Amino acid sequence: MSLSRGRDHLATPGPSIIPEKVLTAMNRSAPNIYEGEIIAITESILSDLANFAGTSGNVVLYVANGHGVWEAAIVNLFEKGDTILILSTGQFGIGWASLCKNLNMNIIVLDFGYESTIDFNQLESVLIDDFNQEIKAVLSVQTDTASSVLNDIQLIKQTIDACNHPALFLVDSIACFGCDRFEMDEWGVDVMVTACQKGLMTPPGISYCFVNEKAILQSEKKISVSPYWDWKPRINPKNFYERFFGTAPTHHIFWTEGGFRYDD
Ligand SMILES: *Cc1c(COP(=O)(O)O)cnc(C)c1O
Repeated sequence: MSLSRGRDHLATPGPSIIPEKVLTAMNRSAPNIYEGEIIAITESILSDLANFAGTSGNVVLYVANGHGVWEAAIVNLFEKGDTILILSTGQFGIGWASLCKNLNMNIIVLDFGYESTIDFNQLESVLIDDFNQEIKAVLSVQTDTASSVLNDIQLIKQTIDACNHPALFLVDSIACFGCDRFEMDEWGVDVMVTACQKGLMTPPGISYCFVNEKAILQSEKKISVSPYWDWKPRINPKNFYERFFGTAPTHHIFWTEGGFRYDD
């Protein structure tokens, strides 16, 4: 005789356990994707997410997983052959680095293994040795899921600034957004990427790119970006469908009864 009650839960880093409230909110028929409720909910989610990340910058939504938003951030900002410095404290820094390599970026990886946080002296010496300021960006993971190492994001930015280096600063908070504190503007992060299936506890399928003014200016210099990943029309859509470049991920963005109310 089984004494178990309720749903089975598999405790992996992601998809994390999906609360009953979220599952209940999804249990409904599809809405009109061109007007009304879906537009209002999406716009409210954009401003809530920006507040939650501590930024007055823009939020870009992709129907994608974490790998998708990793690629989105890179292809909006950099050209083939650009030099990118990646700080790795586990598996996911290495993963982002290999994606950059496959996009024909020139990568420098500082790998601190699975047991330690970032060594700021090493970071400083790489940036100081970069006389011609070839390094276009520094990439770091906030919490690396494979090692559970949590990095001090603010201190990375302070180190970049102390070296008077103009590199953009990109952070992967895919594992821990919603669990660990994130203060994008206060910490000086230019781009933060995250996804919905870990700390945010929803089924996989949406990822988010938070972009500040400096990153937007840089992206405007790019000669071309593949249409699906291009964040410019998603940030300034002429029609609602451009927010997602196609059908909105409708059931990912509903709120439960008693949460959001749409009164037209
Ligand atoms: C899970 C994870 C990713 C990859 O996300 P996917 O949705 O599996 O593509 C990237 N970075 C970190 C830190 C993660 O935990």
